Amino acid sequence: MSEADKHHMYACPGCNVFFLRVSNPTADAFKARPRCRASRVSSSFLNLWFYKPMCFTASCGREVECMVELRRECLWEHVTPQLASPTVLASTIKVDVCVIGGGITGLSAALKLLEKGKSVAVLEAHQVGHGGSGRNVGLVNAGTWIRPDDVEATLGTKVGARLNQVLGDAPAQVFATINRLGIDCQARNDGTLHMAHNASGVADLQARHDQWKRRGADVELLTGPQCQEYCGTDKISAALLDRRAGTINPMGYTTGLAEAVQRLGGRLFQNSAVIRLEKQGSSWLVKTADGMIVSDKVVISTGAYTEGDWSELQKNYFRGYYYQVASKPLVGAAADNVLKHGQGSWDTRTVLSSIRRDADGRLLLGSLGRTDNKPTWFIKSWADRIQRHYFPQLGKIEWDMHWTGCIDFTPDHLMRLFEPVAGVVAVTGYNGRGNTTGTVVGKALADYLIDDLPEELPIPFSTMKPIQGAGLRSAFYESGFSLYHAGQCLRVVL
Ligand SMILES: Cc1cc2nc3c(=O)[nH]c(=O)nc-3n(C[C@H](O)[C@H](O)[C@H](O)COP(=O)(O)OP(=O)(O)OC[C@H]3O[C@@H](n4cnc5c(N)ncnc54)[C@H](O)[C@@H]3O)c2cc1C
Repeated sequence: MSEADKHHMYACPGCNVFFLRVSNPTADAFKARPRCRASRVSSSFLNLWFYKPMCFTASCGREVECMVELRRECLWEHVTPQLASPTVLASTIKVDVCVIGGGITGLSAALKLLEKGKSVAVLEAHQVGHGGSGRNVGLVNAGTWIRPDDVEATLGTKVGARLNQVLGDAPAQVFATINRLGIDCQARNDGTLHMAHNASGVADLQARHDQWKRRGADVELLTGPQCQEYCGTDKISAALLDRRAGTINPMGYTTGLAEAVQRLGGRLFQNSAVIRLEKQGSSWLVKTADGMIVSDKVVISTGAYTEGDWSELQKNYFRGYYYQVASKPLVGAAADNVLKHGQGSWDTRTVLSSIRRDADGRLLLGSLGRTDNKPTWFIKSWADRIQRHYFPQLGKIEWDMHWTGCIDFTPDHLMRLFEPVAGVVAVTGYNGRGNTTGTVVGKALADYLIDDLPEELPIPFSTMKPIQGAGLRSAFYESGFSLYHAGQCLRVVL
């Protein structure tokens, strides 16, 4: 039996018989091998979630298991060596600034503070990169998700223009940081491709192209054979190539930042969740279960992963999810033609699909929503469907890992900076663009704590304002994404 065949093989742990899944999940027929009766399992649109392939041999009825299991593991964690010597905070330490959250934002802030001569402690509830920073797609995007004209319409011309400029230039800062610190993270500054999946997608990309061009950005709208050559698919009629941007292994980048923080004498504590933040005289007491940091200033950079009720930050965003599925490394001419110039990409669907390769030739597909609450067959079916739609020339490919992460969304898709009290700064609402944004915001918050120049920030501070019905919004979007993906599997959409 070939490796590919094994992906369709299911075994019943009770009867020790094998089943071969012969079709897609809309018609889950199982041919019995070698001796059990053929079985069919219903999977109507509504019970899709609850469906599990069962053994129908005699009266067994047990759930059968795929012989080659798609692992729930983050690729970037898998390929990145862990930080040496994880230390838990178990004493009281005094520093100039305490940074809460060991992601790209917190570590970028810590690095800048250390470079300017401040003493810094970073507290991370789990391991460095546990949040979005270690598990994202790795797109080093320029700008926000929304068009630059819309940023100015929402924030006003002056503030919006500054944010567009800062985030438009942000990929250059990420790649400069990687080069300066010698971070090994599969960095490629070859651009990104935003791919139009239909006519309205083309119109959207034309508008984005024109708006960024007016601002002097190095973008190009690819069409015709050139577009096909870059994307490696004939399903895309236009793609916006943004040469400012690129891709990284985000866990590699985050770990590299953490190592640089340690090299500069920063104190980094992992498995040290903050449970309390108190003011005492002119100092801040940042408490964990086993220790305490006493600092003059505090940076809260816990993003979508904020844990505990010691801050109001989590009331200022609503949580969304994004998942990815990675194949085993692909080889051969057909594989080489998929995104052959090394760009990371995503399509113009509202519930988008992201597509990229990694340094080992894996194909990574992703979309909004979560896979940690879905059966393996569903995840594989979705990945197969997207791959066969865009890259049928690859034939059947083997999916290896899947993982999910949280994103901090805001209703207007724009981030918020806060200074709830003097000496404490916080940020949230990257809306799924934190590799670049976290890098520049972390540095900007550090500069602000040192120089006290609010006009130098990418955007002004906002007042904290809880988002109404945040939990309901999250649930509503998650259901919508799940239904959309079910529709993709069932070929109702796509
Ligand atoms: C699946 C996915 C795909 C994405 N794709 C992209 C992409 O391609 N490009 C892009 O630019 N952005 C992407 N993003 C968004 C990006 O990953 C995030 O915006 C970014 O990583 C946020 O960085 P951060 O440092 O602000 O927060 P995080 O990386 O989330 O770090 C916050 C840290 O704070 C810690 N923490 C929480 N509570 C406490 C506490 N009480 N005490 C101590 N520590 C605490 C958490 O454990 C966590 O490690 C994606 C996000 C996800 C989830």
